[in-house]
Parts: sequence; C-alpha cells; structure tokens
Amino acid sequence: MVTRFRLPGGWSFPLGVLFSSRGCSFRCTFCQTTAFAPQPKENSLATLDRVLRFYVQHGIHFVLLLDENFGNLPSHAEDVIELLARHKVRWLVQSRVDLLLRNFNDWRRCGMEGALFGIESFHQDILKQMHKNEKAQSAFELAERLDRAGMYAQGYYIIGLPPETPASIAQDLRTLASLKLDVTQITIVTPHPQTEMWRELDSGYGIFEKDWSRFDTKHLVWNHPHCAPGVLESLLEEGFRACYGKDWLMRTTKKFLSARRAQKDLSSVLLGPVRSRWASSSRLPYLATPVPSSDQPVRSAVA
Ligand code: SF4
Repeated sequence: MVTRFRLPGGWSFPLGVLFSSRGCSFRCTFCQTTAFAPQPKENSLATLDRVLRFYVQHGIHFVLLLDENFGNLPSHAEDVIELLARHKVRWLVQSRVDLLLRNFNDWRRCGMEGALFGIESFHQDILKQMHKNEKAQSAFELAERLDRAGMYAQGYYIIGLPPETPASIAQDLRTLASLKLDVTQITIVTPHPQTEMWRELDSGYGIFEKDWSRFDTKHLVWNHPHCAPGVLESLLEEGFRACYGKDWLMRTTKKFLSARRAQKDLSSVLLGPVRSRWASSSRLPYLATPVPSSDQPVRSAVA
C-alpha cells in the first residue's frame, strides 16, 4: 500500500503504509475498533520484514505506521522499531498521546519523523465520558514537543459531544487552530453501530438518520440537545478554514524541508517525484509469495 505526500507544485514523494498490529485494548466509547478488534494482535515480524524489503527495493524510504494504537504491544513495538532501523526507513506513526509522550525521545532517536494522534476534546470531563483516559493538557504538550523538534504533527478532533454548545465549539476550534498542526482532521461526533456511543446517543437522544452514507463524520445524525441541524456542519467548515489558513502550506512545507536539511537528506526531496512514479501502483509488482507462518527467524536476526 503506497501513498504519496504532496508538496506545493505537485512535488511528491512516496510513503509505504504499514500495519504492525491491528486492534486496541482501550475502550473509547466512540471508536469502532472497540467493536471489530478489541484485542490488539501482532502482525508477524517476518511479514513486516518482507513488506519493508519490498518498499526499500522500490525506492520507498518513508513508512506510515497506521496501527490503531502503535505501542499498545510494547515489546512488539520495540521489535518493529528495530526492524525499521535495519531497513533504514524513517517513519510516521499513529498512536495515543500518552504513548507518544512516554516514548517520544526513544522513538525519535530510532527514526520517528512525526505522529498522528487523537486529541478528541480539550475538556477533561468529555474525555472522561468518552473513556479516553488521557489528560486534556497532554495534547498541548505533544503538539509543542513535535513542533519544537520540527516533526510532522497530525491531530484528530471531534466536535458536537452532548454537553457542547455552538459557542463552546467555536472557541475550541480556535484553540485547535492555535496548535498549528500540519494536518488537522475534524469530525462531527458520529455513533457507529456496536459502539458504546451508539447505545448512549440512541437511548439518550435518539439517532434519527436512516441514510448510512451520512454516517461519514461530516453530518449530524442524532438529536443534539444544543445544536440545531446544520449548525455543526457550519462549525466544521469554520474549523477547517481556521486550521488551514493562509500560512498553513508554507509553514508545513518549511518544516518538512528543514527536517530533510537537518538530516542531510535532500535526496528524498529531489528524487521524490521519480520515486513516486516508480512506486505508483500500476508499476509495482504484486507481492504474491506465501507469507511465512513463523516470525522466529526474523526475531533471531533482529536480536
Ligand atoms: S480511539 Fe484510539 S485508544 Fe481509543 S479505542 Fe480507538 S484506537 Fe484505541
């Protein structure tokens, strides 16, 4: 799975997607992972080794670790990081704020280029209601550390929880924009079937929407106690405009180029478009050989 990051002018470079594990042991009420993969499971190191070798052979030197919660299986995460180092790839990783803060220095030393993390809310009572088990202040700390280190930051934020009002959401969106993240994903709170939030919102307020295509986190699908229909959708637009203001593209591009310069790695930028073409899906061969059943040989080699 190869994706591309694009710089201004269409300048791009390829990123290989990697899931080192699936699932999560936490129980956030809004999260569909709690229904489809409530226990984290490793993908074997042998499998990951094959994929990484394939990426590097095809000119891909950046990896996007999109586990639901990287680090939820600490010893597997350590093995994966060693494997990434062996393949000399740099990586961006999706994880919880607390895990990112706890491992920040170690992971950075081992090639972490940036982080994707759920902020969800700036309010401790709402985080508690969602069973998120994070300190509201931690997201600020993480955003600041990433910024100071010149690393990529992507945050997820949810608007429209039952206690929120249009005025409180507007204020929170201004705070969100002040974090100056590289990518900010804002969603309207949406109940997914089989989650705790589905049960809470349906029994407390009523889920009225019957059209499943509107359960896309961009529409209000339940009876909000303080926000009339259409209000959250307008706030969502307002939030995106604030987070992707005039200085956004230049700021993010500068950060990326400074990081490459500091690492004496301008070749990733210069060769990016060639590598992107080389790694386009139409050119890549299908990785079809059988997946080894045991990860033992790779573990020994890493050790
Ligand atoms: S939001 Fe993140 S931490 Fe919470 S259950 Fe989902 S994957 Fe786990």
